[in-house]
Amino acid sequence: MINKSQGNIAILCSGGDVSGMNPAIKHFVEYAKEKNLTPFFIYDGFEGLIDDNIHEASYCNVQGIIFRGGTKIGSARSKRFLEVSYRRKAKENLDKHGIDKLLVLGGDGSFRGMDIFYKEHGIAFAGVPSTIDNDIVGTEYCLGVDTALNSIRTSLDHIRDTASSFKRAFVVETMGRDCGYLALVSALTSGAELCLIPEVTYDLTFYEERFKDALKKGRGYFLAVVSEGIKEEPIMIAKWFEEKIGIEARVTVLGHTQRGGNPTSRDRLMAYRFVHFGIDGLLEGKKDAIVCYNNGFFNHKSIKEVANKRYQLDSTLVDLFFKNRS
Ligand code: ATP
Repeated sequence: MINKSQGNIAILCSGGDVSGMNPAIKHFVEYAKEKNLTPFFIYDGFEGLIDDNIHEASYCNVQGIIFRGGTKIGSARSKRFLEVSYRRKAKENLDKHGIDKLLVLGGDGSFRGMDIFYKEHGIAFAGVPSTIDNDIVGTEYCLGVDTALNSIRTSLDHIRDTASSFKRAFVVETMGRDCGYLALVSALTSGAELCLIPEVTYDLTFYEERFKDALKKGRGYFLAVVSEGIKEEPIMIAKWFEEKIGIEARVTVLGHTQRGGNPTSRDRLMAYRFVHFGIDGLLEGKKDAIVCYNNGFFNHKSIKEVANKRYQLDSTLVDLFFKNRS
């Protein structure tokens, strides 16, 4: 028996790339076909939508990508998509290919764009939260976070080797924009002595006696993990170590190293589950939903519940590091 076609569906990546996008793209093709949908790739995010860089996808396109970071179909930010006329062009391109469902891997900016696009043109979409910052309200997990955390952990392990051999303090800056999640979890899981994040006000004088005393008692090095969202430059924290604590200090800005690398098992699995749930939702008639993960389960949330709000760090995680330290 030939199963009835469920129509055409496309995937695109928008905003910052994350490790986990490639496994998501692989499963998108596999699961779409399983559900009798014809899968399409839209290359380079909304830019490809506007320029008709849209192509039917096959199993061959996704062989050998599950272990690769980044995204095979590219990602972009698009100024043009902010304009009504280009969004109209995007809709014409989708019509040309008979596509009426989209799976969008991106951050809340991308979802805001898609929400507007849906309201204007009725193209249903499912958003998969994908950002290493883990700052999307409504979901406990965003694709790419675990790989970024593991990459930071590896860097901190390496830095500890040299810090302890040379008796230095290292100030290591992580990404995260205004969210301290990456810095906080990394500080906890690497046993850092100091962690500075935008969500917790700090006073370095609080640490002075404690750190000087530790040095006297034989401590040989310090690790400080600071989020890019704090107002102070890492070099100023390094100066503080040298001038107030009396230990030579260095700065390492991890930068974009945190965004790449082979996706961890967790990110591969989460990619599969996000995509699975997103496609199921579209087939059930969901039109304008973000796939969220809470307490071990997936759910759909509206754009209102997800965008334009400030992410709150889990207070138990904050307490784990900061109780008795600030
Ligand atoms: P990241 O977390 O990596 O920043 P993001 O999805 O939040 O990901 P943005 O740069 O905020 O990244 O948004 C990605 C794209 O979404 C923008 O380049 C733009 O094309 C589109 N977009 C964002 N906001 C809107 C909007 N209000 N109207 C139309 N399009 C939008």
